[in-house]
Amino acid sequence: MLNVPSQAFPAPGSQQRVASQGRSKVPLKQGRSLMDWIRLTKSGKDLTGLKGRLIEVTEEELKTHNKKDDCWICIRGLVYNVSPYMEYHPGGEEELMRAAGADGTDLFNEVHRWVNYESMLKECLVGRMAVKPAVPKGMLPKSQVTDTLPREGPSSPSYDWFQTESSVTIAIYTKQKNINLDSVIVDLQGGSLRAETFIKDHSYLIHIGLSHEVQENFSVRVIENVGKIDIVLQKRENISWKCLGQPLEKHDSFITKKDTGLFYRRCQLISKEDVTHDTRLFCLMLPPSTHLQVPVGYHVYLKLSVTGAEIVKPYTPVSVSSLSGFREPAPPPNKYIYFLIKIYPDGLFTPELDRLQIGDFVSVSSPEGNFKLSKLQEVEDLFLLAAGTGFTPMVNVLNYALTCMSSLRKVKLMFFNKTEDDIIWRCELEKLAFKDKRFDTEFVLSAPSPEWNGKQGHVSPALLSEFLQRSLENSRVFLCICGPTPFTDEGIRLLHDLNFSNDEIHGFTA
Ligand code: FAD
Ligand code: NAD
Repeated sequence: MLNVPSQAFPAPGSQQRVASQGRSKVPLKQGRSLMDWIRLTKSGKDLTGLKGRLIEVTEEELKTHNKKDDCWICIRGLVYNVSPYMEYHPGGEEELMRAAGADGTDLFNEVHRWVNYESMLKECLVGRMAVKPAVPKGMLPKSQVTDTLPREGPSSPSYDWFQTESSVTIAIYTKQKNINLDSVIVDLQGGSLRAETFIKDHSYLIHIGLSHEVQENFSVRVIENVGKIDIVLQKRENISWKCLGQPLEKHDSFITKKDTGLFYRRCQLISKEDVTHDTRLFCLMLPPSTHLQVPVGYHVYLKLSVTGAEIVKPYTPVSVSSLSGFREPAPPPNKYIYFLIKIYPDGLFTPELDRLQIGDFVSVSSPEGNFKLSKLQEVEDLFLLAAGTGFTPMVNVLNYALTCMSSLRKVKLMFFNKTEDDIIWRCELEKLAFKDKRFDTEFVLSAPSPEWNGKQGHVSPALLSEFLQRSLENSRVFLCICGPTPFTDEGIRLLHDLNFSNDEIHGFTA
């Protein structure tokens, strides 16, 4: 919805165009781009019709604002008059009207819960939903009783804390066995501790204003076989704490991930290096008081302020240890986060990112994604199909395959680009293929120079059937595919034609 590229983006026929089966974007009128919307919100025009007054909105009142020229929508408890925004919505008016006069939170979460609508729609804020009077539990009608029962899902974690003279340990009991250091994200900011633990599709939050000061460095350890996470804080003063602190917003809550907002921390730009003529490797440093590891196949959102509005775009961190086993010395793990990002000169976000100076800050969200590492278990042949920057998720998958998959016989990358100059880390890939016999790479160009004597064209049955040769007749296979949406869609269609099942394919999509 809100903060996605404007109108004609992706332009009809553009390589970035969203798939037909995915969320579609509609052509918008001239002068209705995201930048035009930002300009309108800054013009001082009264966009709510309430002259800046904020009101409490009852459900009954909300329902009456259900027309295009009088359309209110509730998102996460706040009500917005979205009529002025209708013509600017990249998903089209019809899509927005689906939530007219109603609570659009679920619809919004389904499509793009990461969009920072608070910033984009702040001039459209009408007010808050009025809180309904509480009904004593025993009095609830039957239909509502079921709503109050815990939904199906993992059982709620719990926490405890204990101290020594110099440290305070917060122990989170997840009641799950398959957790690791990726499962928890900890941020210590201005005396408050925020620890979010991900368990399946749920999130458990510890959020506390600590009662005493602690040092910014802390450690996190996971005791996998009992599903326990310890966060060990170092006291500033060796005094005994009477309590851990005060609960803050949503402390001790356990909710589905899609119902949580994204949390950001400010990261510093440490270096920026050209990789191709238009792609750079950005290195960001996490704050010392953050523990965050991005799981393989996951992405994060970067947030920057562009002409006063917050713009958010997704990016996939890459590990530099795999392909830059060539990069010595290896950077200290978990403090730096690397991104390969293509700069589109007329794009909204990337030119702004490219203008940052070393030492400037970018906000980085917690990771998101649905890639399941468990799908790689016992896989013998792994095929990676990447186009353009769709290469980025493959970097960590490749790294994982070569270092952690004992069953692996072969991993092959088919990398589609327009020209030779567009191939990211070509030399590193070739060196890796030379060094590790399990790995092979093939480059396919869609707009090669006459000198190119390698493979050419777009993803096709001929290219795929030649490439997808198993190392053994009945070997267990898995395929990953990522690139511009038409590429990914077409690739997945062709893979189905070649009799690969959905279980054997992971398509990285928006
Ligand atoms: P945009 O404003 O989105 O524009 C991109 C291109 O479209 C430009 O050429 C622009 O001219 C054209 N365009 C824009 N508006 C119009 C219009 N109205 N008409 C015609 N053409 C138009 N990218 C990476 O480089 N690295 C990554 O690791 C990465 N990871 C991603 C992970 C995920 C899960 C997803 C969904 C995307 C990822 N992307 C990645 C893509 C990234 O999120 C952005 O889409 C990309 O950086 C472009 O952003 P932008 O705002 O600069 O450009
Ligand atoms: P690009 O325009 O340079 O194209 C690279 C190659 O993609 C082309 O050479 C061609 O072989 C293929 N291709 C492009 N359009 C095609 C079409 N219509 N049909 C079939 N094949 C086509 O690519 P780019 O500018 O680097 O864009 C990369 C895309 O990957 C972006 O859309 C980005 O959003 C996406 N991406 C997604 C993720 C994710 O996790 N979902 C991660 C990174 C990048």
